[in-house]
Amino acid sequence: MEILKTLIIGSGPAGYTAAIYAARADLHPVMYTGMEPGGQLTTTTEVDNFPGYPEGVDGPTMMVQFQKQAERFGTEVRMGFINKVELSNETGGIHKAFVEDGTELHARCIIISTGATAKYLGLPSEQRLRGGGVSACAVCDGFFYKGQEVAIVGGGDTAAEEATYLAKICSKVTMLVRKDHMRASKAMQHRVNNTENIDLKYNTEIDEVLGENVVEGLRMKNNQTTEAQEIKITGLFIAIGHKPNTDIFKGQLDMDDSGYLITKGKSTVTNIPGVFASGDVQDKEYRQAVTAAGTGCMAALDAERYLQNVKDLIKV
Ligand code: NDP
Repeated sequence: MEILKTLIIGSGPAGYTAAIYAARADLHPVMYTGMEPGGQLTTTTEVDNFPGYPEGVDGPTMMVQFQKQAERFGTEVRMGFINKVELSNETGGIHKAFVEDGTELHARCIIISTGATAKYLGLPSEQRLRGGGVSACAVCDGFFYKGQEVAIVGGGDTAAEEATYLAKICSKVTMLVRKDHMRASKAMQHRVNNTENIDLKYNTEIDEVLGENVVEGLRMKNNQTTEAQEIKITGLFIAIGHKPNTDIFKGQLDMDDSGYLITKGKSTVTNIPGVFASGDVQDKEYRQAVTAAGTGCMAALDAERYLQNVKDLIKV
């Protein structure tokens, strides 16, 4: 058993930014990286929209730089997956976290930055071409398809928003919705319907993404008539939702219907004193590296204030 002042769970932009701020404030952060060290950005190629990289940077390189910066101020980064927590309801209480190797950690304060995982269709051809034209983030990767024809799957607000975003960059966007209606809000549907270069196809599902190393097209079918069709595209965007990585917090932290952690007002404060949430695990709307980093900073500042307020109780 080990006693920590600050435990950070998750190693994406939110976790590392929290670590940089926490380490500089003498909160002695120890980070557990989770199953995918570096988070979702390690599965992308070029990141062109993070300020401070005028030439762009590839995702894995950027995450190594985040780690180095966090370590420079004394963050201890450990590979490992926390698979259980027992959170204390008391202000100044000790929270327990259990690592998959059996290590038991006791922490005064926990910053959760476990992120969210994009859902994919699960087709072998889709998985093979991830990073070769298949992407789950239009805002991140849309620019690479400037002037080209692309497709997007999904009928929710994300798909509708991303379709209109792509329509400004690409020559044509084919939007595939599996039902005969969209789940997106009426306002978003209206925007899609009023965008000339979006070709909306209802009752349509993908059978196969075509192309050997890069996306060249789609084979799809109408699920009512079974009529098959092929189109040529260079980019396929999957926008069928995300799953926040919050399973281990169920029953202890307040969540919305989709499992996103609920934070109070503009802060990163959860319903448990001394437990803070930052990044995509508490944000289903913006989901950008830079917004995640911003809330990571907020979580460290919230943690610092919390520890300051309960310092009489703290013996670590
Ligand atoms: P949603 O869960 O709302 O929508 C997912 C969409 O993907 C649905 O149309 C669903 O179809 C479709 N889908 C799911 N699985 C498959 C599949 N295997 N094949 C094809 N289609 C599939 O996710 P979103 O990411 O769109 O939104 C998440 C939440 O975030 C929502 O509450 C949304 O309102 C909110 N949001 C708000 C925004 C804003 O206010 N600006 C922007 C973005 C998101 P079906 O309907 O058939 O199940």
